[in-house]
Amino acid sequence: MRLQKTKTPVAAWLGYDYFKEERKAVKCLTVILRTKGCYWRNCTMCGFWQESADVSQADILAQMEHSLRNSPLDEEFILKIFTSGSFLDEREISGDTRREIARMLRKRTAIKKLIVESRPEFVTVDKLTDLNSVEHLELAIGLETADDFIRLNYIKKGFSFDDYKTAAKIVTECGATVKTYLLLKPPFVSEKRAIEDVIKSAELVSQYSTTISLNLCNVQKYTVLEDLWRKKYYRTPWLWSAVEAIKKIKKNQEVVVMSDPVGAGHIRGPHNCGSCDSALKNAILDFNVTQDLSIFECIDCECKDVWAALLRSDAILFGADPV
Ligand SMILES: [Zn+2]
Repeated sequence: MRLQKTKTPVAAWLGYDYFKEERKAVKCLTVILRTKGCYWRNCTMCGFWQESADVSQADILAQMEHSLRNSPLDEEFILKIFTSGSFLDEREISGDTRREIARMLRKRTAIKKLIVESRPEFVTVDKLTDLNSVEHLELAIGLETADDFIRLNYIKKGFSFDDYKTAAKIVTECGATVKTYLLLKPPFVSEKRAIEDVIKSAELVSQYSTTISLNLCNVQKYTVLEDLWRKKYYRTPWLWSAVEAIKKIKKNQEVVVMSDPVGAGHIRGPHNCGSCDSALKNAILDFNVTQDLSIFECIDCECKDVWAALLRSDAILFGADPV
């Protein structure tokens, strides 16, 4: 049983993603490789380390081969290889394995773009050069917020905005692009401040990023955030907040804006009143592949007034400007 687990990825699925270079949606294969996991393991909201296992580098290559069998044979596609950690951390994916994966991908000319994730401290010219076998390479970095105070104290991410900027410059110099993850509503941040924080962060990262992915905070098991949530010190973001942030970011910036509403409508995920959740979730998914803000125009619900009142009270309590 254990043997089987190490030779198959955590997950692999086909979907669609917006391909900025051609301004259209294309097929996308996402692969979550099982590795030793993220070495950091301190982030208050992250439980992805639970997907890690004692896998060998040969296991990882077997997982990769297994996943590519699901790749589209008939059309071009985007490939995302995630590890729930850092693809460029050699404790997870060794240099030899990284180069072997690059060799595997070189044969797959249908791959339009490869996206991998890494913490900034592992980003080097040599490692990125290894991956240049694909037409477009994108490195995704989980910055979460441009605010060092929130990232270091509330998220406990352990790196600074300057560390991110250094890594982003290396990626750009290598001819690759940067996707930046921003977290909507880290713990200890009010709903209104959370919206303001992602909008401000998006402004600050836009010169380094071609894509901003807005991660709507959800409550994962066995995390600090789960303890806070159980004690009622935390509520996941409203989907109205996500829409508000997406609209403001997209209106002001040239970047592609995306958001995978994981767990939307569920109590541990981003949610509204219950009756409008699936409409908002679908609108966000439609927006991801069209980048068309008019999708949000016809959506309304009575709970929007409750959300607006919450923001007004946040403004009074925390001294922020009303939206
Ligand atoms: Zn509603």
